[in-house]
Amino acid sequence: MAQLLRWFKADCFRWVDRLPCAACGSASTEDGGPLEPSEAERARGADRVEAHRCRDCGAVGRFPRYGDPLTLLETRRGRCGEWANCFTLLAAALGFEARLVLDWTDHVWTEFLGQDGRWRHCDPCEGRMDSPLLYEAGWGKELTYVFAFSPAEVVDVTPRYTAVWPEVLARRGPASEADLAGVVEDLDARARAGAAPPPWRAPEARELAAARGPGAGREAGAAELAGRETGSVDWRLARGEMGPRAAAASLGGEPGALLAAAARPGAAVVGRLCGGARLCCVGGVPALELLAPGACVEVEGLPQQVGGVCAATGDGAFTVEAWLRARPAELRPEGFQNPLFSQHGPGSGWELRLLRRGVVCFLVTVDGVHHEVDAGAAQWPPDGWVHVAGVFTGERADVFVGGQRAGALDVPAGRRSHFEGPPCLGRNPAWRDRGARCLVAAARTSRAALEPRGFLPAPRGGSAQE
Ligand SMILES: [Zn+2]
Repeated sequence: MAQLLRWFKADCFRWVDRLPCAACGSASTEDGGPLEPSEAERARGADRVEAHRCRDCGAVGRFPRYGDPLTLLETRRGRCGEWANCFTLLAAALGFEARLVLDWTDHVWTEFLGQDGRWRHCDPCEGRMDSPLLYEAGWGKELTYVFAFSPAEVVDVTPRYTAVWPEVLARRGPASEADLAGVVEDLDARARAGAAPPPWRAPEARELAAARGPGAGREAGAAELAGRETGSVDWRLARGEMGPRAAAASLGGEPGALLAAAARPGAAVVGRLCGGARLCCVGGVPALELLAPGACVEVEGLPQQVGGVCAATGDGAFTVEAWLRARPAELRPEGFQNPLFSQHGPGSGWELRLLRRGVVCFLVTVDGVHHEVDAGAAQWPPDGWVHVAGVFTGERADVFVGGQRAGALDVPAGRRSHFEGPPCLGRNPAWRDRGARCLVAAARTSRAALEPRGFLPAPRGGSAQE
């Protein structure tokens, strides 16, 4: 199944937001509303057609939304409905027990029966398996009803896709759960035309009942905290599927040590957007916009300390880094007024600060004493993304700009003093009137003194010199 999934996503099917213009080749087309399907389109299984109007020449292209998986084997394009429809057909054709899963909040994927007799999540558009909490924890969806369909059954599989069943239950209605279960049971029996339930039904019913029980919700794993990957950033933002929870994933990037450090087994790490912080897209790079006064992201849901040790950076050597854009003239005059990334209060913690001149300053606290090093001679790039990092080796604090060491300071031996509060991007967690106006594409903490080659890679779609 994993091979099929890889092939299907990489080589077989294509995602379509907007079709390019067939008349002039322009990629700039816009929604031209619904069209009536032609007879031929209907015959091939299209129940609706989208008009994609060219912004350059005005030509209107037709995008029939086919529901017939055999047609989709030829067209090989569409959005999640087409993807899941065609993928489920292929999985069944290869001998898997497979079914189509319809999420009432507008997504479709596949389930297949594993060798252990359990139904497993498989999302062809995202290329993901066994990540059932992806939608709730990663995309920020508020699920209501999720049903699995095959020619021989209908099952309410919602509990498999939530860690907070009581919250989902509160959103369901107006039908009572008992009435709904009756309707599903009836449809299921009719689909089977009187045949006995399949052998997997009883264990699955027990599994789903257990997931409805008190305290059943497991917490999302790291793979389930990702925002939606398919579709353009604008499309995903419009759908809210890069929502606040997705912010946490974009903070971490791969491999996301901020997230990893937080991984008290299964802890859901959430970056909360505060004070007008929002997600945006700059030159194709999704980023956090921290321009409003007080805008910040607070990383919640992780233990801030474990046994008195900072969860994000550990107790010894560590690295904090970020890819950002800022206009130095818009920064406040004093460095301490411009915290970019910090977990820092009186006599405690660490901080990366932006400077009008010198780009960045790194602070680490040992035995209650702050040690600050700035990149005194470094210059802001005229434009584009810049990488900044603070690296504490245990003996020395180094500050990097664009992967080059730009300052170093010996730090006396002692114990690091940890701040009791969340890591914060764009605002200091203790002095909330302090904050750096900037855009952040990625930020990460690591429990090691990284070499520059280990720093976060440049944001995709842009570069330090763009
Ligand atoms: Zn055109």
